Order: sequence, then C-alpha cells, then structure tokens
Amino acid sequence: MHLDDMLDYNKKFVEGKEYEKYATNSIPNKKMVIFTCMESRLVELLHRALNIQNGDVKMVKNAGAIIRKPFDSIMKSILVAIYSLKAEEVTVIGHYDCGMSKVDTKALTETMIEKGIPRETIQTLQHGGIDFDDEFHGFETVEESVIQSVNVIRNHPLLPPYVKVHGMVIDPGTGKVDVITRGE
Ligand SMILES: [Zn+2]
Repeated sequence: MHLDDMLDYNKKFVEGKEYEKYATNSIPNKKMVIFTCMESRLVELLHRALNIQNGDVKMVKNAGAIIRKPFDSIMKSILVAIYSLKAEEVTVIGHYDCGMSKVDTKALTETMIEKGIPRETIQTLQHGGIDFDDEFHGFETVEESVIQSVNVIRNHPLLPPYVKVHGMVIDPGTGKVDVITRGE
C-alpha cells in the first residue's frame, strides 16, 4: 500500500527536521482563500505557477471547484477563513480538462454498481430524494462553472462587503491562468 511508503517517508521527514523550512502560522500571509479542484495535476503545479508558499493562503478543494448551494461545507470554510483567519480575497480556480465537465451520471451509477454498490441502495437513495444528476452532474463549460461558483460567494448574505471574489481557470499542463472575473 502507498500508505506504508508515506509513513516510512514521514518518519524520516520528522526525524530530519525537514519541517523547519515550512514554519509559519495559521493566518494566511496573502489574506486569500483559494477554492479549487481536487485535480492531482494541480497538487504542486498550482502553487508553483502562482508563487504560493507554505502559509500564504487557505486552500479549499472539491471535485470541480463547484459551489451551488450557499450553505454547503465549502462556503462555510470560506466564511471561517474570512471571519476567523482574516482572509480578504477569495479566488475560485477551475481548470481546463476537468473530470467534472459533462459527467455522465448514468455511467457513473453503473460504475458504482460494478464496484459493489447494490442497485437497491441506489434506488433507495433515489426514492429518498437524492437526485444523482443534480449531485454529480458537474458542468458544461469550466468558465461558466467558475462564474456560478463566484456568484454564489459574491451574493452570499454573510459575505462582508470588503471581500473581493475573483474567478480564474488554470491550464493543468502549463500552469497558465486566465482571469474570468475580477472582484473590484
Ligand atoms: Zn477538476
């Protein structure tokens, strides 16, 4: 398992005091929250491409950088970053070639069944009001999706007026960003 490799490495990391160069506190130096996709190509590239160092930003991630409901856990994290951790800017960063673009929810459901979820479990959830299309659909274009996420944040009744909310799309190959909307 990869977990064992990680644990071995971790032991050496701590013993070698490699953490020393990352020392910082929990208030983000750039007073920014970044909300982005869980995309593995961005794990390191996003930081490097935008010159983000340890301690610089609060980072919130989910599949697709999607917020559609004002009180989901992402929005709560953003509000905590603003009120408790002094963030003043929020940047939503979607990316080209995202797995949440045009998700085929029927195929996804079939994959769940193939991988061992009983069909009856899925039917029970659907009868209970869980709409798989709604929950897993993702988006048509990333630009449109970033705008939607930005608008949920900008229009949030608990967002203080001084907070600026920006939207960008990053290329997961080159790290180049395109600004879609800039908070003024
Ligand atoms: Zn993605």
